[in-house]
Amino acid sequence: MENHSTLISRAKESALSGKILDKRDVMALLEIDPNSDACKELGQAARYVAAKVCNNKAYLWAAIGIDYRACPMNCDYCSLGESWGLVRNESELTEDEVIQMAEKYVHEGVKWIVLRTTQFYSFEKLMDLARKIKSVVAGNYQLVANAGEFNESTANKLVDAGFEYIYHTVRLREGINTKFDPEERKKTLKAIQRSSLNLVSLIEPIGVEHSNEEIADSFFNAIKYGAVVTGAMARVPVKGTPLGELPGLSNQRLAQIIAVSRLAAGVHAPDICVHPASELAIAWGANVAVVESGSIPRDTCCSSKEVWNGFDPETAQKWFHAGGYEAISNED
Ligand code: SF4
Repeated sequence: MENHSTLISRAKESALSGKILDKRDVMALLEIDPNSDACKELGQAARYVAAKVCNNKAYLWAAIGIDYRACPMNCDYCSLGESWGLVRNESELTEDEVIQMAEKYVHEGVKWIVLRTTQFYSFEKLMDLARKIKSVVAGNYQLVANAGEFNESTANKLVDAGFEYIYHTVRLREGINTKFDPEERKKTLKAIQRSSLNLVSLIEPIGVEHSNEEIADSFFNAIKYGAVVTGAMARVPVKGTPLGELPGLSNQRLAQIIAVSRLAAGVHAPDICVHPASELAIAWGANVAVVESGSIPRDTCCSSKEVWNGFDPETAQKWFHAGGYEAISNED
């Protein structure tokens, strides 16, 4: 059997030569003990590749949760699921509130301003909001939508309204921990592929319950639909949801999955995103972190004007700086 060092150097070379790793190698890297010296070596190799493929540039993704509303899709990990009864006082950010948040984030160097909604939020309203933001918020940022399912015609309308990026994914155990038919999610991914929207698609929401094979399949799904940003997001256990008692991932394991995504995607998805961020994940190859405010699906905190978990652009700046990246910026 190939030893870990040989496997890691082969994966590093593969990334640097523009290839995507195959599933067997991805799974072998995921099998390394996250607390071992071999995993440190994996993280260092991923950081080396990050310096080459993203030129040490770090970016921020700021998600603004527009509607704090009970969602009838009842995903087993989401605090907004209607059946869990955690959403009591529904609310929605006003246009002015969203604009103020977007202006602040752009001023703080955020590259991607993400308008996130629950599943059935009106696309017309979302597009009106995008047009308004684009007309009043100056700066070099890109608008991202993270909403429900849609077809190609809506994808093109989203582009016309000012969106350049879209977040979408087939989540882990889609159809098991969610009520979605995975094929419906894939139809939306196909519509995105046929439009000029740039796809951002993470492996998520990862918990201790997921096998290496499920994680690898999710990664390859993101690549198959042309994700330009990928990476990993942990499931945050929210008490009162069906998966609320299952423990979350350790920082080491999430950072390992980041390192594997970095080596597996190479130049094909040059930006690798981690959520929630840690200094270790940044040291092991993540160059994108997420700040979020408004309605948060991984908390029962209601709709907040403050950033979630205290992770703000200033902290991100500090961590990226410590990890040897250039200052976060909204310049390409
Ligand atoms: S994850 Fe999305 S679709 Fe699922 S319950 Fe939460 S808001 Fe609804």
